[in-house]
Amino acid sequence: MADLIIMRRDATEEEIKKVVEKIEKLGFKAHISKGTERTIIGIIGDTRGISDETFRILPGVSEVISILKEYKLTSRDFHPEDTIIDINGTKIGEGYFVVMAGPCSVENKTQLYETAKFIKDKGAKILRGAVFKPRTSPYSFLGLGPEGLKIVKEVKEELKIPVITEVLSPEEVEPVAEVSDILQIGTRNMFNYRLLQRVGKIEKPVLLKRNFSAKLSEFLNCAEYILKEGNSKVILCERGIRTFDSEFTRNTLDLSAIPVLKKETHLPVIVDPSHGTGRRDLVIPMSKAAIAAGADGLLIEVHPKPEEALSDGFQSLTLDMFEILMKEIIPLAKLMGKKI
Ligand code: PEP
Ligand code: MN
Repeated sequence: MADLIIMRRDATEEEIKKVVEKIEKLGFKAHISKGTERTIIGIIGDTRGISDETFRILPGVSEVISILKEYKLTSRDFHPEDTIIDINGTKIGEGYFVVMAGPCSVENKTQLYETAKFIKDKGAKILRGAVFKPRTSPYSFLGLGPEGLKIVKEVKEELKIPVITEVLSPEEVEPVAEVSDILQIGTRNMFNYRLLQRVGKIEKPVLLKRNFSAKLSEFLNCAEYILKEGNSKVILCERGIRTFDSEFTRNTLDLSAIPVLKKETHLPVIVDPSHGTGRRDLVIPMSKAAIAAGADGLLIEVHPKPEEALSDGFQSLTLDMFEILMKEIIPLAKLMGKKI
């Protein structure tokens, strides 16, 4: 099995071209990473039938490597350089720090507009707000639906801020992608393989949340479902997992997932301390912990009147608290070498 072709330091452009041609002749796509030292060429596709020998004999080839991980395209072994996602100039990935903030649910235009204006003013780069809500009880507020999507579009255009909103089903992908800059797949849908395949076929970035009971290898395999379909703009989000202890917190924020994922994959890793803890008073300390652990950004719930929120008011920051959060995390993110 041949997955990665490591070229010799002195390999010529012509030799690199010959390797790429061979890959394409076999019906695969080539991914070229040009490092300072040498060029590495990845083979995209199911390479189980290809022997190392096919490439080892070509001039300029130093080594042929097989990747044994199931999540090949997602793995850093296959794609050593960090993926940086660019949304109209806002960069997401290693070396950058992005704050996505807004209400859990879009409730009306005033609420979204007021929140968006505030968070943008304080340095958040992306507005969050769901219109299709997956709730534990079917009697809870399930979101404004298409009407809410119109509000998201209006606020995005009026304030010129990119937005992220959730998709629940494959049928929603098209209408949501028309408005939203990033599509969110929530914790409950991480294992929804049809939905993963569907968002894999679009160009827009996807924020994939870890299922609250998923192992990290399962999380990475679900990202692979998206990448395999051609969409490599995937952002991973740790949002807390279920453990034996839910006495003081809604979930247990798995901070160790951050450095593990950053090692294992080239994709950006962000943290949602709002769902991760379920308590507004824990959001600022856990945001700081996430930055210290190497996160590339945060997803934060904010509401102008959390006590009146239709969902997740208990964990939503007030506007005042959001201002404090931003003031306290900006120097920390800079200390970690991030541009914010
Ligand atoms: C949300 O972001 O509002 C949400 C529903 O998140 P999760 O899927 O992580 O519960
Ligand atoms: Mn929420």
